[in-house]
Amino acid sequence: MATHVEDEEAQEELKTFKDLGVTDVLCETCEQLGWKQPTKIQIEAIPVALQGRDIIGLAETGSGKTGAFALPILQTLLENPQRLYALVLTPTRELAFQISEQFEALGSSIGVKSATPGRLIDHLENTKGFNLRSIKYLVMDEADRILNMDFETEVDKILKVIPRDRKTFLFSATMTKKVQKLQRAALRDPVKCAVSSKYQTVEKLQQYYVFIPSKFKDSYLVYILNELAGNSFMIFCSTCNNTQRVAYLLRNLGFTAIPLHGQMSQNKRLGSLNKFKAKSRSILLATDVASRGLDIPHVDVVINLDIPTHSKDYIHRVGRTARAGRSGKAITFVTQYDVELFQRIEHLIGKKLPAFPTQEEEVMMLNERVSEAQRFARIELREQGEKKKRPREEDADDAEGSLGVRKKVAGGKFKKKKVH
Ligand code: AMP
Repeated sequence: MATHVEDEEAQEELKTFKDLGVTDVLCETCEQLGWKQPTKIQIEAIPVALQGRDIIGLAETGSGKTGAFALPILQTLLENPQRLYALVLTPTRELAFQISEQFEALGSSIGVKSATPGRLIDHLENTKGFNLRSIKYLVMDEADRILNMDFETEVDKILKVIPRDRKTFLFSATMTKKVQKLQRAALRDPVKCAVSSKYQTVEKLQQYYVFIPSKFKDSYLVYILNELAGNSFMIFCSTCNNTQRVAYLLRNLGFTAIPLHGQMSQNKRLGSLNKFKAKSRSILLATDVASRGLDIPHVDVVINLDIPTHSKDYIHRVGRTARAGRSGKAITFVTQYDVELFQRIEHLIGKKLPAFPTQEEEVMMLNERVSEAQRFARIELREQGEKKKRPREEDADDAEGSLGVRKKVAGGKFKKKKVH
């Protein structure tokens, strides 16, 4: 088995973008972007796409799938330059932004422009003179999520107003009945390209758990953030409220933490994500809204502060780290209430996880300052709730507004205390 895997890897190492048929100018751009070799999905999909075939791709974010469809589209566009060449449908605006960024980066040498107009149907219905009759490529990315979000009618409407004579790429993390139906409706004799990432977590990902009483979760979190200082963190919480609370708590302790959840406006969410991407914040607090589809390249550590209720979400969450060949850590907090859920996760990934080493006395020494920060965080949450009731005021949902109680807990930045 091991040899088989190694052989496969050795074969892949020999492949270059040029071997896949990518034209020189685009190979150069890949090199400039630091893409040394094509990823698995790129190796499978690019040659097929360049032959002009439709593709059904089973791959998740992080696999390099955007490059897998963007490179062939850009290459054929180079051969036949025109306006409104390709249409990419995504379930969320954040994902649309990320994809447009990759198109612009890959197409920089040929001046490609992309736009993320929001709900396309609104434009088709309301923008005079706008139509999609020249489209040569349709990409449906994360099709399972598009359909789960009840966009079926919208997708049908779009299919009716774009030319039948086009190429179609459908990417999805899972092959559901709805996706199969869409495949039959929209694709012609597609080639299936799949990468076997399903329910497997990558080798370079070190996964741990910490078993702790629920009342000490915040102290253990602060302890681990100190232990692993210097890394970038993504911390998952189960509710918007807890995400916001922990963001306030950590900020009160001097950490640069920023929340991302569904109760924030779209602008604030993008703002949070961009600050984190630009590395001006080292901790992103998120609900599962953010656990899929977002391309956050530099997460070193994923912390499941609240254990995921659906074990598949575990895979999506920890998939935020150890991407594109890098290593990463995932630490899951398991309280007395979470044992069964944790066992289900271990069963799903097919292995027993080791405990993350912690020093209980050191954690307990943090309790006092953490309790004080918790108290401030509660006040801030309450004030924010009251502000939201007063509609004219700017809401402080990025946890960075000034709320009067912004003063940090004594001691400022939380330094680890040495125990002698
Ligand atoms: P995606 O799965 O398309 O969201 O891509 C995940 C990340 O991998 C993005 O940040 C890409 O820039 C990066 N990426 C895509 N293809 C390659 C490659 N061949 N080598 C290195 N990084 C890549």
